[in-house]
Amino acid sequence: MKKINIAIDGYSSTGKSTLARELAAQLKYRYIDTGAMYRAVALYLRRKGIGQADLGQILWTDLLADVKLAFKLEPGSDRAVMYLNGEKVEKEIRQRSDVLNLVSHVAAVSEVRQFLVEQQRQMSHAGGVVMDGRDIGTVVLPQAELKIFMTAEPDIRVQRRFEELRAKGGQEDWEAVKANLQERDYVDSHRADSPLRQAEDAILLDNSRLTPQEQLEITCGWAREKIEAATPASSQ
Ligand code: C5P
Repeated sequence: MKKINIAIDGYSSTGKSTLARELAAQLKYRYIDTGAMYRAVALYLRRKGIGQADLGQILWTDLLADVKLAFKLEPGSDRAVMYLNGEKVEKEIRQRSDVLNLVSHVAAVSEVRQFLVEQQRQMSHAGGVVMDGRDIGTVVLPQAELKIFMTAEPDIRVQRRFEELRAKGGQEDWEAVKANLQERDYVDSHRADSPLRQAEDAILLDNSRLTPQEQLEITCGWAREKIEAATPASSQ
């Protein structure tokens, strides 16, 4: 069977990464969380004391030359986590509110996007990848055989994100979580370079009223159809 590429895009907290990870596991494909890469760059900047107001003055080529990103498998598991310059940063990129507040602004910088898109394309050269983000179907992998665009009602997304943060010990209140989601969605969909939008050939998945299991079943069905269509009859 041919190994296809699957692009999953959509708004923040629509459950993209959960679905992408499970779909990849089901198909024995590699999962690539591109949001983690943008978060890691934002963390690198925060550690240097750089904030939103400074982004216009940065010499990006020099700065990004010192940013080495890698996904590495957790020992004894098939879960890949984010490393920044050899250090595991998975927890910090998910939990630091200064990183979350900066990341969309960093993601609007064209030099940062070029730097990360190049690495994302290399990771998917051989096929067999499920990649999630905001511009995967439109910019990173426009040839992906299956493109999914995820959405859910805003309050449902805020609730999901709120519960996720609380479960990890976060103290943010509901209004702060809502404000961060709204701001990220706005900045992501209004930036000049690669704004978040549904690719013309993407299938819309509104998961407001779907369980994770239902989403997996639906999308696995779509993936199997695309794999079959992409595989020459002689090798099926
Ligand atoms: O998906 P996640 O919430 O981890 O992404 C964090 C941020 O990174 C997004 O709000 C968006 O600004 C940026 N991003 C992006 N393009 C991607 C993935 C993430 O601009 N492909």
